[in-house]
Amino acid sequence: MAADSSPAAAEYVVVARRYRPQSFEELIGQQQVVQALQNAILKNRVGHAYLFTGARGVGKTSAARIFAKALNCQQGASPEPCNQCDICLGIVAGGDIDVLEIDGASNRGIDEIRQLRANVSVRPSRARLKIYIIDEVHMLTTPAFNALLKTLEEPPEHVKFIFCTTDPEKIPITVLSRCQRFDFAPVEREAIVGRLQQIVEAEKVTAEPAALELLSRRAAGSMRDSQSLLEQLLSFCGDHISEADVYSMLGAASVSGIADLIENLANRDAAAALGGLEAVVVAGADASQVAEQLLQRYRDLMAAAVGASSDLFVSASAGEHAALEKTAGELGLEAILATLQILDQTVSRMRQSLHGRLLMEMALVRICSLENLSDLSSLIAEIRSGTMQQPAAVQRPAGNAASNAGPATAAAANPARNRRPEEKKTDSLASPPKKPETAAPLTDQTALGIWKQVVTVLEDAEDTNAVIAKDFKSVASSGPNRLVVTFPATYTFQKAQCERP
Ligand SMILES: [Zn+2]
Repeated sequence: MAADSSPAAAEYVVVARRYRPQSFEELIGQQQVVQALQNAILKNRVGHAYLFTGARGVGKTSAARIFAKALNCQQGASPEPCNQCDICLGIVAGGDIDVLEIDGASNRGIDEIRQLRANVSVRPSRARLKIYIIDEVHMLTTPAFNALLKTLEEPPEHVKFIFCTTDPEKIPITVLSRCQRFDFAPVEREAIVGRLQQIVEAEKVTAEPAALELLSRRAAGSMRDSQSLLEQLLSFCGDHISEADVYSMLGAASVSGIADLIENLANRDAAAALGGLEAVVVAGADASQVAEQLLQRYRDLMAAAVGASSDLFVSASAGEHAALEKTAGELGLEAILATLQILDQTVSRMRQSLHGRLLMEMALVRICSLENLSDLSSLIAEIRSGTMQQPAAVQRPAGNAASNAGPATAAAANPARNRRPEEKKTDSLASPPKKPETAAPLTDQTALGIWKQVVTVLEDAEDTNAVIAKDFKSVASSGPNRLVVTFPATYTFQKAQCERP
């Protein structure tokens, strides 16, 4: 990297360009692609058209240039370019006459491709090969692709094509089938951190490891994005980049600010949550960023709650796994899911609203006023297991062919039906048959309240069964952990619906 050592050069060049990888060795996070390309050169099996696909900022165009240098280098084609000869330097500067870079987005029409076809037959002027690098190739129009295809079908010996795209699905299959395709993976977080650390050192600046970690997470696999963010930081920080600098640049709340907010939410303390939001906003955070951060955090809590491994976390690091699992256990999966739903709605509404802060505050208050879902869900599970047991425990000994009126059960319980012929008809009245013997915590007095809570939970979950569950006639208890809900005689559908597992 020639320009690395002179950050104070007269003409300022942005970080992402100054630290663009110049050799395959410097191309980070794409080892498989690099190896395949180097092997092709070593074995003299270079194809005539390549397609590099992958998200933005993962090194596609850089790889195309390095490949072009390696093929055309005056020292001879080799797995690494010399980066010193006229041709290598020309390609680095982007002005080599035999390596043509075309932006597919601004040269997408048939005329541009026709011109390209006319030039293809002309031999390279000083290098071995004429190499066309077409960026964002998916932007070409259909006629342009058709024109390009004719060249791809019978390319002259001295021509190579390297197409780069973020969107390979938009490329016609006829073109795809004539290219060797290489998929560039998102760059891993550690690799980005490592590269940022090198750049920081080369710029003679220090940075807290947490600051670089945060930048890499924000870049989400894009090396270029991470470097653009670093660029902004370099321009407003002095000789030292702290984690707090990154937060304030991103308009994000600090880790501790978010942790405090989550604690307030877990305690259902709406007043404290509003105070916590105020605190992070005063510290420079943007309400919509806070919403995003909370959403990501709860997403990781959800992952922890279902037992996912830490490499699936989006915002948390592996070191936080245990703490996250603990919090997730305290909150309960139901509450985490309900919170995620509220936050997701809030984030999307905030994009179109001028009252972002207010929407965020509403979300916090709503999350705090969520019923204690984990308690209720275990209660429902208890109630369900109670009613599920009922047919087995009570009906069979009692010879009552009642509620699960499936033909098999009815047939098996035939003698019982003979004894109580009216039971089948009145059956729709009482869910499981009533036996008013009270015991333990569930009593006739508490039964109604519990069923109403069940209805509320169903309503909160926007479950269509809420309407049905509301149609009950009476609620009673029929023994330890046995709740009996009775529906009016004609409400067979409601009854059947409530009896479903
Ligand atoms: Zn060279």
